[in-house]
Amino acid sequence: MGLIVQKFGGSSVKDRDRIFNVARIVMNTRNAGNDVVVVVSAQGDTTDDLITKAAEITSDPSHREMDMLLAAGEEISISLLTMALQELGVSAISLTGWQAGFNTDRAYSKARIKRLDTERVESELARNRVVVVAGFQGLNRSDDITTLGRGGSDTSAVALAAALHADRCQIFTDVEGVYTADPRKIPKATKLKEITFDEMLELASLGAQVLNNRSVELAKKYNVELEVISSINPVPGTIVKEETKVEGMLIKGVAKDTDVAVLTVKDVPDVPGMSFKIFSLLAQKNINVDIILQTTGRDGMKDMSFTVPLGDAESAVSALKNATSRIGGGDITVDKGCAKISIVGAGMQSHSGVASTMFEALFNQNINIKMISTSEIKISVIIDEADADKAVAAIHDAFIN
Ligand code: ADP
Ligand code: ASP
Ligand code: MG
Repeated sequence: MGLIVQKFGGSSVKDRDRIFNVARIVMNTRNAGNDVVVVVSAQGDTTDDLITKAAEITSDPSHREMDMLLAAGEEISISLLTMALQELGVSAISLTGWQAGFNTDRAYSKARIKRLDTERVESELARNRVVVVAGFQGLNRSDDITTLGRGGSDTSAVALAAALHADRCQIFTDVEGVYTADPRKIPKATKLKEITFDEMLELASLGAQVLNNRSVELAKKYNVELEVISSINPVPGTIVKEETKVEGMLIKGVAKDTDVAVLTVKDVPDVPGMSFKIFSLLAQKNINVDIILQTTGRDGMKDMSFTVPLGDAESAVSALKNATSRIGGGDITVDKGCAKISIVGAGMQSHSGVASTMFEALFNQNINIKMISTSEIKISVIIDEADADKAVAAIHDAFIN
């Protein structure tokens, strides 16, 4: 008995039957004597469909209007689920993100939660209601609607669990937990019993869609243990927590991210301050740079390559082109046909040969590596997108099977 936060993703509420399925899960949790706060995402492909609708109107929509549009998806889900709960005789109320107290910064489409005022949620709980909150959305200081970035409902759920000091935070989804690779792409992938926040944060940041990376960041910060489970099959899922038992797995997972573009600025002067000039330009545009590679200087010049999210590639190119007088440099090229393939696992800290096993698996498939980046618990490579699925399967085979 206690307070439980339950989050249901888009496929878990995609139609009438799934909504009633969720309503029954919530009802059973409630009937077991718990207070329940539910967070839901937009139904099925609603968010993608809304993005398509906007694209039919303009290729350059205002960020504010985009967030206004996308927030509508979650509002459909909260009201329908609340009606289903009421239909089952459960006392429930739906709240939008702002009614639930989500205050964010101004960064439309990737807003960060600044403050969460839980009075309204708590007063509804005190009235013995199940509270159904719209994930993914908040309100900025100008009282305008913001969204938290794709997959952001996970973050809404973790934030509520932290602020309400919930006893459990369950993330229900369309697979049975966190696997060693995307189980829809790699049938041999195995379900993990548990994984640490740090490993999960890397996997999520490197493309494993099952949890949003900011949600894991937040879970680690406030030590909110997460349970990733299926909304369809009631079997044990995966626990995400600070420390796990040692179980001899060298790597916990392989992830693929195709949301990468490689930008190259050729022939920039090989002088102090160059990196600062280039990357401060991108920082001003709020563009995240990931892997950075520079050639060694020759004749006082060097080339700089780096990766950015696909959606930011064009604005990165134009920011750099507008500043060529300041940074110097020759051609700016962009390669949008890349993928980042990564392996993650705390086990690699204490074992040698992990990188070479990964590179050998790629070599056996005749796959060329364009860039490499490592940290204590991950190794990433940039390769051609056309080779991505083959690469994940080969690397997964080399380590896990
Ligand atoms: P939801 O709508 O519930 O938020 P998502 O589509 O965002 O669900 O995330 C679940 C999906 O993540 C799964 O259907 C699966 O295809 C994908 N996925 C990618 N990598 C992994 C992984 N390592 N473990 C589990 N699922 C993964
Ligand atoms: N509906 C949003 C999305 O599709 C948020 C989420 O699903 O978590 O990204
Ligand atoms: Mg998701």
